Amino acid sequence: MRFNASQRAVAGRSGSRKSVSVRAQAAATSLAKADVPLKLEEGEMPLNTYSNKAPFIAKIKSVERIVGPKATGETCHIVIETQGTKINSKGKEVPHGVRLYSIASSRYGDSFDGNTTSLCVRRAVYNDPETGAEDPAKKGICSNYLCDAAPGTEIMMTGPAGKVLLLPTNAAAPLIMVATGTGIAPFRSFWRRIFYENVPNYKFTGLFWLFMGV
Ligand SMILES: Cc1cc2nc3c(=O)[nH]c(=O)nc-3n(C[C@H](O)[C@H](O)[C@H](O)COP(=O)(O)OP(=O)(O)OC[C@H]3O[C@@H](n4cnc5c(N)ncnc54)[C@H](O)[C@@H]3O)c2cc1C
Repeated sequence: MRFNASQRAVAGRSGSRKSVSVRAQAAATSLAKADVPLKLEEGEMPLNTYSNKAPFIAKIKSVERIVGPKATGETCHIVIETQGTKINSKGKEVPHGVRLYSIASSRYGDSFDGNTTSLCVRRAVYNDPETGAEDPAKKGICSNYLCDAAPGTEIMMTGPAGKVLLLPTNAAAPLIMVATGTGIAPFRSFWRRIFYENVPNYKFTGLFWLFMGV
């Protein structure tokens, strides 16, 4: 199964206080690019391949906290094995409904072999509006399941869904990206394809602007 680059946008979140901008030019980068299995350049982009009643069963490979100790809330980088798991999904159905997460890696995944996909997930917590105290009984189901998952944990996936946040086919187009929080996820997939992966038929020559609200 191939999960393609960023097929979802994240709804805006409030509370952004300052922003930083990063300007990078592909021609100026000295990063050594990784070779990737170019077979994955072929074919159509997958769309809605898996559904609630016929989900894809994958396994968590790793979960890493990616915010500092003083951050408000917890956000995790989650790598999911999407190849080679071969778990029978017959008769399985997604419980608790689906939750949407933006894909934070390109089709080649973090290990450049096409065997994983990555997410950037913030734990959803509930704070009592009167006391301000956190109520664990009302914490978000899916985000906490993912952030607490041990390597090897099975998860059900549907999709991939959406075609709204894809790299332009014109590799010379300037990119101006604006994100806060986990909204960085789809843009991470962009910069990995542009700066980290050796794809002969895709040579980015535009400008890459990222504005990240923190
Ligand atoms: C297009 C799109 C892309 C997204 N991409 C990302 C992404 O990349 N990363 C990311 O982290 N999120 C993303 N989200 C948000 C994500 O889909 C989930 O909504 C989020 O993770 C919360 O899901 P959950 O199952 O943890 O919480 P849920 O179980 O759905 O709960 C939702 C909220 O309700 C609260 N709640 C639970 N019970 C009660 C109660 N009894 N009373 C009051 N409140 C209660 C929970 O604390 C939580 O805050 C995206 C959303 C969309 C629409």
